[in-house]
Amino acid sequence: MTSLPLVFDAPKRGLPPRHLADLSTEQRRDAVTDLGEKAFRANQLSTHYFARLTADRDAMTDIPAASRDRLADELLPPLLSVVRHVACDDNTTRKTLWRAHDGTLVESVLMRYPDRVTLCVSSQAGCGMACPFCATGQGGLQRNLSTAEIVDQVRAAAAAMRDGELGEPGRLSNIVFMGMGEPLANYRRVIDAVHRICDPAPAGLGISQRSVTVSTVGLVPAIRKLAEEGLSVRLAVSLHTPDDELRDTLVPVNTRWKVAEVLDAARLYADRTGRRVSIEYALIRDVNDQPWRADLLGRLLHKHLGPLAHVNVIPLNPTPGSKWDASPKPVEREFVRRVNAQGVSCTVRDTRGQEIAAACGQLAAEG
Ligand code: SAH
Repeated sequence: MTSLPLVFDAPKRGLPPRHLADLSTEQRRDAVTDLGEKAFRANQLSTHYFARLTADRDAMTDIPAASRDRLADELLPPLLSVVRHVACDDNTTRKTLWRAHDGTLVESVLMRYPDRVTLCVSSQAGCGMACPFCATGQGGLQRNLSTAEIVDQVRAAAAAMRDGELGEPGRLSNIVFMGMGEPLANYRRVIDAVHRICDPAPAGLGISQRSVTVSTVGLVPAIRKLAEEGLSVRLAVSLHTPDDELRDTLVPVNTRWKVAEVLDAARLYADRTGRRVSIEYALIRDVNDQPWRADLLGRLLHKHLGPLAHVNVIPLNPTPGSKWDASPKPVEREFVRRVNAQGVSCTVRDTRGQEIAAACGQLAAEG
């Protein structure tokens, strides 16, 4: 065993003050009465934040001014402010750079498709997993995001969609924890954020759990724990190669939990939830794109997960200074064909946001 830094309980350093979106419905009621206000004010505040999607106290005119100030000062501290938005793909993709209360920078990406609208959220500022092909992995972990900092990315995106900031007004339907950070290394806050995102308004934002994807490098104990949460979110596992030798270098946490253990945990998750697991595979030219690796991947997934696996091939997005590149299209097609030939479903992920450094693995928040 190697000595990877233990990342499960990164320090509380830098976390923002308590916010409404950190709290469950009961905790909100307690917080409001502790401030000397009537319990029903918790519901009013929640309706503004989670149903009307506003954190602006001036809009909360159903609450008397003195109470409003007390409640907003204590329960709606400013969390994230927009540094800038950058759009591309004909204004169907928009990346937002956010500044947190302590100056920390994080990014989220909103993508509009014909049949759905997806927000890619960050769960940490930076990332401690050090995958060499990922821009976020190069800078290390700055800190965890609070539950409310995660939820506020979603609230802002839902408001932006409703207000027609990405073309016709629409509804934010899907959330992927595929922005900056390793969500399962910020476990409790991410689980709480899933509840806030999915509980019906005014407890939460009312997005279906089935439309939320949590993506992980493969922190096995955390996957096992997630399987017992009683949630129906989709799990995505960033596998990137079926063999331990290469995976030890592409996903360094593999030196701690091997491919077979990761796939066993994924199987447990699929069995508990009845949901197919997404296997993420960033295809890198001459690194992990060989026909034999496709065959091995197909065989392994067939054995561990059978019809409960779906492989998402992501053409590698080169990051600044990286020596790696995406595989040529014919190599990619052959890879997909070989995985399919083992009876495992496999498709190529559509990549958005490349020219604004908003594609998978490009989020680096340089300021
Ligand atoms: N830490 C989590 C979620 C963040 S990244 C995880 O690793 O799953 C979301 C996905 O983008 C992961 O599968 C990640 O490996 C992939 N990715 C990272 N850098 C990439 C790059 N440069 N090109 C393509 N995919 C990349």
